[in-house]
Amino acid sequence: MGNTRQVPTASDLEGALRSAALRVTRPRMAVLAAVHAHPHADTDSIIGAVRSDHTEVSHQAVYDVLRALTTAGLVRRIQPSGSVARYESRVGDNHHHVVCRSCGDLADVDCAVGDTPCLIASHDSGYSIDEAEVVYWGQCPTCLAAGPAGAASDRAPGDRGAAGATPTIRPSSETTGGPT
Ligand SMILES: [Zn+2]
Ligand SMILES: [Zn+2]
Repeated sequence: MGNTRQVPTASDLEGALRSAALRVTRPRMAVLAAVHAHPHADTDSIIGAVRSDHTEVSHQAVYDVLRALTTAGLVRRIQPSGSVARYESRVGDNHHHVVCRSCGDLADVDCAVGDTPCLIASHDSGYSIDEAEVVYWGQCPTCLAAGPAGAASDRAPGDRGAAGATPTIRPSSETTGGPT
């Protein structure tokens, strides 16, 4: 927490696309800007952000762009068990996430022991390892403050998808007060 997120300028975004050998298109610019502005947003939130910016895009176009940006390494896709996929522009540092079991809220967690120590597996079985996925599960401060009544005590971890609960996901940029 406490790190201000800077929304890159249009020329920053253009440069990022070019450096990833992606053609600069308006949908790609708009989606990349939306992911920067709304860390950990899901696809629907990204579509909403892009459209509120007066960019005409279809759902399919946003899915395609997100896939291209993820493949190019400009965007990281995270999908905790029982959650929809979320996207973030903080890539390349192998940071982790903590997920609230009750409301599905999600926050960044820096690696506990340095840069990428978890990539040095004790036994790699001969694989070349380039990513380690660590997800911490628990309860967010809001749900903790709400008391045990709101806790998902009767639900098994990873079983939230089947429960039909739709967590309301607020992009964390709304609470950090950064310029939008
Ligand atoms: Zn919560
Ligand atoms: Zn993150």
